[in-house]
Amino acid sequence: MIEMRQDRSLKPGTWKRTKKFEGTEVSAMVSCSNGHVACLWDHEIDSEGVVMPSLVCPEDGCDFHERVKLVNWRGTKE
Ligand SMILES: [Zn+2]
Repeated sequence: MIEMRQDRSLKPGTWKRTKKFEGTEVSAMVSCSNGHVACLWDHEIDSEGVVMPSLVCPEDGCDFHERVKLVNWRGTKE
């Protein structure tokens, strides 16, 4: 499992908080280690920040596929 730091500018290998498209539930966007941005709206994030299922980068040709933990995750409430 890899740990991702929180970073508003989404440098490679980091995450930032974002709201889901509708409602107030908080989710996250991540940048894979190759700098591709992915949204976690369709993933579960537990109270420890562990993302389920594992993260497969949506970018064609990118081989990033890891179990990910979001460091400093504070849950899905605003
Ligand atoms: Zn990628």
